[in-house]
Amino acid sequence: MTITGTHIAYLHTCKRKLWLFARYIRMEHDSETVHQGKLIGEHSYARRSEKYTELEVAGSKIDFYDVGNKVVHEVKKSNKVERAHIAQVLFYLWLLEQEGIDGVTARIEYPKLKETRELEMTAESRQNVTSWVSEARNVIQAENCPPVINKPICRSCSYFEFCYAGEPEMDSEESAS
Ligand code: SF4
Repeated sequence: MTITGTHIAYLHTCKRKLWLFARYIRMEHDSETVHQGKLIGEHSYARRSEKYTELEVAGSKIDFYDVGNKVVHEVKKSNKVERAHIAQVLFYLWLLEQEGIDGVTARIEYPKLKETRELEMTAESRQNVTSWVSEARNVIQAENCPPVINKPICRSCSYFEFCYAGEPEMDSEESAS
């Protein structure tokens, strides 16, 4: 199966989410989190969109690619820098390399944090991406759905009701951690 940036991000967020998503099990998601994320994305790039091209590489869509400067841009609504974001973007750089486009760097912008993270491909990240791809494949191919992770992130996940229907309330200590 083709591994995409979304798969890599979910691998770093929740393996159960990755497994469900890869099986095309989708839940309606109209949460404020997603809406807000979209608004931040649209607003932050509204005046800059002309500079960027939308790129589709091996099933992954890169929304903002600066062809002239060879930079992948991502904008994240999160109020913290997350491993999943970094992994997803490194995966894009790796994909581009696989297509013979070398020397691409990436910039992840966090408008809420007023912070920018610059990334480039290194031998170590190249190795990491390769292992994430095979790990994602293993998770997806597993016969059984991975267990729920019972973490605060579940509250804003589209699979929340699916995962916790009929379950006792999440542990409040876990929720607060
Ligand atoms: S609700 Fe939690 S356990 Fe279920 S898929 Fe989402 S993040 Fe994973």
